Amino acid sequence: MLQSLVRSVGITCTVSAIVAYFLTHFQIIFVKSFLLTTLLQFIVWYLIGYANEAKTNAINRELEADMYKEFSKQFSEVNCAFCSTKSNIPIVITGNNEFECSNCGKRTAVYVNLEVAQTTTAVEDPTDRIIEKLTEDGIPR
Ligand SMILES: [Zn+2]
Repeated sequence: MLQSLVRSVGITCTVSAIVAYFLTHFQIIFVKSFLLTTLLQFIVWYLIGYANEAKTNAINRELEADMYKEFSKQFSEVNCAFCSTKSNIPIVITGNNEFECSNCGKRTAVYVNLEVAQTTTAVEDPTDRIIEKLTEDGIPR
């Protein structure tokens, strides 16, 4: 970490010194151009870092979106329409589903059929209440 920092500062100073030395031929003061070149390099490296980070973030967002897309798939075991071989295939609710049979190599379309049912509440387990009632009534134990 420290080693790479020292190396980076060394390279930056060397580049600045070379540029500043070159500019002394045009009667530009060494220190002035040295400092300006150093500052310019820091700005350029900051912008490159910023651009790289933005690019990495965009790639990460894309990967995340792909991951969610994969998660939204449900797998189901279906039979081939030609040879009845069972296959475990991903099903997408919002798209067309098709798979190629691993046995006969033919393509089978998969249609998702929605079903509805009434929701019901679970019947209460009366055992506890019966025991409570029996204890209250004084059944001999
Ligand atoms: Zn088949």
